Amino acid sequence: MSDADQREPSLPSDTGLEARLASVRAGIADAARAADRSVDELTLVVVTKYHPAALVRQLAALGVTDVGENRHQEAQAKAAELEDLGLTWHFVGQLQSKKARQARRYAHVVQSLDRASVVDAFAPTETEPDPRVLDGFVQVNLTDDPGRGGVVPDDVDALAERVLATGTLRLRGVMAVAPLDEEPRAAFARLRAISERVRLIDPAATDISAGMSGDYAEAVAEGATHLRIGSAITGNRPAAP
Ligand SMILES: *Cc1c(COP(=O)(O)O)cnc(C)c1O
Repeated sequence: MSDADQREPSLPSDTGLEARLASVRAGIADAARAADRSVDELTLVVVTKYHPAALVRQLAALGVTDVGENRHQEAQAKAAELEDLGLTWHFVGQLQSKKARQARRYAHVVQSLDRASVVDAFAPTETEPDPRVLDGFVQVNLTDDPGRGGVVPDDVDALAERVLATGTLRLRGVMAVAPLDEEPRAAFARLRAISERVRLIDPAATDISAGMSGDYAEAVAEGATHLRIGSAITGNRPAAP
């Protein structure tokens, strides 16, 4: 082990991170080719939750521009520490309205709009009449379990209308996580059909955020534009703090 490795034992070596990132980028390019799509249509969001800010800095040095976080306090601290990098911060975790009002100060994209109360938290208020405009995705629950994140497919249209009504969220499209007990491609095909419905409400809302470390190729095949990939790039996550 080199001296450098001993100084920072909790970080993967630069070469390991670089190799994993290169391998995922190659996998995305393969998936795009197989689906007859251009990689230019795809945004890689590296999910860095539970990892230290130093790892996000390494990723930025390797050309990563978009990162995803799922816990408000952790995201807020990292975004403040790494402000100089000019990254685009995506919030991908469950939000409560109070946290949502704080998240809009550092996040650029909120991918987990799943309830009216969370959507409304981004609307202007008397004390904050002119908040920043954020990009938003309506998160769809593709499982039969109401406890999982996301709005049920039947309620997507109403929530999309509500997003548009805030005036401070730019509706980008839909987001989902594939169920554990189903072939991901079938689930992503349902998401694609829901996305087509949302486009009837807002023709600009063309994005689909789907696909993680284990199923991004299936997501690309079903039209995903945003891939949220964590462990395949960062290595195993530390335990939740
Ligand atoms: C953690 C997380 C990811 C990334 O998962 P990996 O399997 O590590 O790629 C993607 N999306 C959401 C919503 C997450 O919470």
